[in-house]
Amino acid sequence: MADNPAKKANNNTMGLNAVCVHGHFYQPPREDPLTGQIPEELGAQPYINWNERIHSECYRANAILGNFEKMSFNIGPTLLRWMESFDKDTYDSIIVQENNTYQRFGIGNGMAQAYNHVILPLANKHDKITQVKWGIADFKHRFGHMPAGMWLPETAVDLETLSILSDHGIEFTILAPWQIKAHENNVSNQPFLVEIPGKHKPMVIFIYDRDLSTSVSFQSEATHNAERFVDHRIYPSFFSAKQEAENMRLIASDGELYGHHKIFRDKFLSHLLNGALHQRNFEITYPGLWLLEHTPDQFIEIIENTSWSCLHGVNRWKGECDCTPGASWKAPLRDGLVKLADDIDQQYQAFLSQYTDQVWELRDDYIRVLLDEVSFNAWLGNFVKQPLRKDMVKQIRMLLTAQYERQRMFTSCGWFFTNFDRIEPKNNIAYTAQAVWLTKQVTGVDLEQKAMDLLKKVKDQHSGLNGAEVFSKRYQRTQNYSDHNLAYFNIFNKLST
Ligand SMILES: [Zn+2]
Repeated sequence: MADNPAKKANNNTMGLNAVCVHGHFYQPPREDPLTGQIPEELGAQPYINWNERIHSECYRANAILGNFEKMSFNIGPTLLRWMESFDKDTYDSIIVQENNTYQRFGIGNGMAQAYNHVILPLANKHDKITQVKWGIADFKHRFGHMPAGMWLPETAVDLETLSILSDHGIEFTILAPWQIKAHENNVSNQPFLVEIPGKHKPMVIFIYDRDLSTSVSFQSEATHNAERFVDHRIYPSFFSAKQEAENMRLIASDGELYGHHKIFRDKFLSHLLNGALHQRNFEITYPGLWLLEHTPDQFIEIIENTSWSCLHGVNRWKGECDCTPGASWKAPLRDGLVKLADDIDQQYQAFLSQYTDQVWELRDDYIRVLLDEVSFNAWLGNFVKQPLRKDMVKQIRMLLTAQYERQRMFTSCGWFFTNFDRIEPKNNIAYTAQAVWLTKQVTGVDLEQKAMDLLKKVKDQHSGLNGAEVFSKRYQRTQNYSDHNLAYFNIFNKLST
């Protein structure tokens, strides 16, 4: 194993100053929920759709420059699944770059992410567990080792979520500075610890630097030149604050910023990580590596139900906030999907209880089937001991597919924007229609009318489009698809393995 730069620099009497750049790579799933294909998107020209354009400008560009070996990052599982099929070379290169750091230091620079980019504080406990377990399983499947950290979607946090991370072997996460309660100690002397009720092991929290992250994200002139960025932004951030013996600054932003939102910033990042920082004797680090040589001992308290992208906290994903004025559709959409999800879960639980007393463990472990690690029949045998007829196996699979739809119903992007009349909330309703339809096929319980009643309260403030119209169209479409020998069901299974 090579020298840990954080350790080597410990011998330096000047103390160690290190910088970590974290990129959160993610975008809303744009696949048609029935076909798995991404429709043509006019704004993405000259590319066919936004995925392909962002891939070329950002993911592929940063992979070619080797940036995934030098930065801390997480990539959403649904995005990685798309990338794996679209451009296997880039996908492989990202995995190899992460694995290089893992082999060099015994800890990798990749972080996992809760699977469907769900706002975890708004999810029920079963869903939190499923999202965390699926996120970890997906990471292990792709990167070949356990993740040390997990990125929380929108960095939305509460203690129950941290407790579940801890239960599943996650050591750290990253939060925004306004997500912790003020305390007298120097906030720059991170990382910190958060006590979790009933747990012996506290969660480690890295706090990103507000000024540096803001300048990277929102001040284009700050990142024209990597040397100037180091001299004018990073250097003062270390030496204007109370100087600790060893310091690290974490810069966090959407990963798409590097090359897509801001042209040429992939090259800025490469130069920052491969030259500009070293010229000023800054080391580059990432959270897992930093923790090898630095044991946090200061406790802080988090402010629950906060996030990095909206100062109104998780309210943005369940109602109108000042950032999305007039979005009165958000509350009934959240309320409607929660009620339908509860009904779908009740049906799932009642039906599956005939076969196993581990109905939620079954759902949590189903990710291994989706990842094609095991065959469905052999896997099901671990949970269900009694012999099953073919039609029973099919029914169980359909209800598990409904649970997959059930998870993606709460993809956070559905509530992020001001308008209802756009692809993200419509997709969440399409997933709902598919879960409702599958539930009916197996149990005979028809939630269609209930869905219509709940979703007609969801109205776009400009176009007037309402949620019941969207649901009805999507439900019809699911039904038409399925009339041909359950084509939808078969196509879905093919896509998800
Ligand atoms: Zn807001």
